[in-house]
Amino acid sequence: MSQTILIIAEHRNGEVRQVTFEAITAAQIVDASSINVVAIGHKLETVVETLSNYELDTIFTIDDQSLSHYIPEAYAHALGEVLEECQPTGIICGHTAIGRDLAPMLAATLDAGLISDATSIECVEEHIVITRPIYAGKAFEKKIFHQSPWVLTIRPNNVSASTLKGNVAQVKNISFKKPPSLQSTIIDIVQKTTGKIDLAEAKIVIAGGRGVKSAEGFKPLEQLADVLNGAVGASRGACDANYCDYSLQIGQTGKVVTPDLYIACGISGAIQHVAGMSQSRIIVAINKDPDAPIFSIADYGIVGDLFEIVPLLTEEFRKV
Ligand code: FAD
Repeated sequence: MSQTILIIAEHRNGEVRQVTFEAITAAQIVDASSINVVAIGHKLETVVETLSNYELDTIFTIDDQSLSHYIPEAYAHALGEVLEECQPTGIICGHTAIGRDLAPMLAATLDAGLISDATSIECVEEHIVITRPIYAGKAFEKKIFHQSPWVLTIRPNNVSASTLKGNVAQVKNISFKKPPSLQSTIIDIVQKTTGKIDLAEAKIVIAGGRGVKSAEGFKPLEQLADVLNGAVGASRGACDANYCDYSLQIGQTGKVVTPDLYIACGISGAIQHVAGMSQSRIIVAINKDPDAPIFSIADYGIVGDLFEIVPLLTEEFRKV
């Protein structure tokens, strides 16, 4: 069946987020005959410029000052006209804070099926087969869509980002007609993270748990992250103890990460934590308790004091 795909672009400060390019790959995997992207926000020039380098059919833009920040009703309303024009058979969003929020609304609007948190997509005998984790990552299930339209969210960092460059066929600017009543308005955004590297998209994550013992104890982890060009994450134990901000929390009730390398420092490996990182490609655990459950999912385990081991690793990686 020929697919017309609409991808909801994600961008921040004029930069297109990697998950958007991963969604383009997903659209290529389902052998879409038409791949379209919609960018919503304000001052979208650099976003359009970046996307224009890809072989897309249409880039839809909805540019309005009132869309500078994500407001669910406003974005869903703005997308109405694009859905009319594009008539997608499939919509792909990132499994991000925005995608997780928008996807069910779009599915309800279109009376479409929704599969969320895909970690892999393949085409088997004309069916799009989606693999997604269940039971907090303890098992995987495969699902298919029986009809169109469908809506899919993909977990960042699981599908390779598209590098298929080309030229976009057309850019269509859709004017935004404000809905009669908006129930919420964003007044201000308070940026809590250092924002060096987005935790959800980082290729290397150095995560600290209660074993880090204090906010000061996160310093060696930050140094290792700097040397490896990675991001710092944390267990809820560390967040609850006030050693770091909740924006760093990884797990069932925090962020889901799938980096190439995950180094867990002083984290016991509770199931709720593992739910957010078990799909990492290589897991290294540093823990002074040889029986810590984290070792059962680690590819490499170091039994010892993180305050000795982490600085040694930093020193060695600095030499590379
Ligand atoms: P601990 O379990 O206390 O482990 C600390 C570890 O550090 C120990 O293994 C210890 O041996 C080691 N250690 C101590 N000192 C050192 C040292 N010097 N060097 C090396 N190792 C050392 N947790 C999450 O992380 N994310 C979630 O999203 C999440 N969601 C939850 C949702 C619900 C509904 C519930 C009930 C719980 C949730 N939790 C979550 C909490 C989870 O159950 C654990 O309590 C938490 O993950 C424990 O954090 P921790 O591993 O840092 O601490």
